Amino acid sequence: MDYTNSFTYISKKLADWYNDNKRELPWRDITDPYLIWISEIILQQTRVNQGLSYYNRFIGRFPTIEMLAEADEDSVLKYWQGLGYYTRARNLHKAARQIMSRFNGIFPMQHADILKLSGIGVYTAAAISSFAYNQPYAVVDGNVYRVFSRLFDIHTPIDSTSGKKDIALLAQNLLSTSQPAIHNQSLMEFGALQCVPSSPECTICPLQSVCVAFEKNTVSLLPVKSQKKKSTHRFFNYLFIKNQDTTYLQKRVAKDVWQNLFEFPLIESDRLLSDTELVEDVEFKSIFNEVNEVEVHKISNPVKHILSHRVIFAQFFSIKISEENETLKQFVKVPLADIDQYAVSRLMEIFLEMELD
Ligand code: SF4
Repeated sequence: MDYTNSFTYISKKLADWYNDNKRELPWRDITDPYLIWISEIILQQTRVNQGLSYYNRFIGRFPTIEMLAEADEDSVLKYWQGLGYYTRARNLHKAARQIMSRFNGIFPMQHADILKLSGIGVYTAAAISSFAYNQPYAVVDGNVYRVFSRLFDIHTPIDSTSGKKDIALLAQNLLSTSQPAIHNQSLMEFGALQCVPSSPECTICPLQSVCVAFEKNTVSLLPVKSQKKKSTHRFFNYLFIKNQDTTYLQKRVAKDVWQNLFEFPLIESDRLLSDTELVEDVEFKSIFNEVNEVEVHKISNPVKHILSHRVIFAQFFSIKISEENETLKQFVKVPLADIDQYAVSRLMEIFLEMELD
């Protein structure tokens, strides 16, 4: 199918719609690549309303690439706490250091250089290149997939290789080379506000006359998705150990969930354990080996915590101990009053808010 004739029309209509409808956001109408980068990374898995306060807080603390690069990772994670997907924060930090060492602290202009920075993929590189430097790279996010699927009635699954390729090609062909920044932003905003996932208001849509899905009455069927991600269930039994006014934390170092965040010592099992099962657990016995008095009781109902690829079922046990053994000395001993100084997962944060407030 030859879409060429409708491309200019669509681009023009989108730009007009954007002018009238765009949300006023701090990362709009700016060309600072650092700020655009931070906003794009925050918004990757976060809704705009939630992301806004994090963005303001993050750039308040790290207003320049240099300040982000010079910070230690724990403080970067602390400012990310609650946003989830902590790899994003670690990569931001790593990439800031790469910009300092490879580009003298100046955010690179070349698309190929941007793509080589940690945590920056095709989508983010296109966003930075077009928004900051007005370079002709089409941005394709979930909103864009949906809008294109409908505009051109594409039924190839958007999570298949060929579906992604077809839409990326269309997006690049449709891109206005005279104003790629406005074009990309208007397309994404149009997907976020007008061509929404369910029940879009097609009757007031400025693209209705060229929308093939509207004409064929297939809007509600699009976009098509082929796979559902399998989630793996995991079971975490957290030990909130109290030794007078102190407790113990450990840092998750493995390449796993919540890498480099702090949490209570943990016993992972194939299901959530009862008090009795916990004290009989081999790992539990090794942690409290030779401690004379260990008082255990469960202090939380099971909590279901959903991450992108996993579902974590967690519960917290209060453990009171009379003395500290060598194993406990290997954890980080933290005064209860200072626990909020540590970057923890959202799951831990919720528990601490309930328990310590
Ligand atoms: Fe989306 Fe409906 Fe507009 Fe088509 S007519 S682009 S489906 S809002």
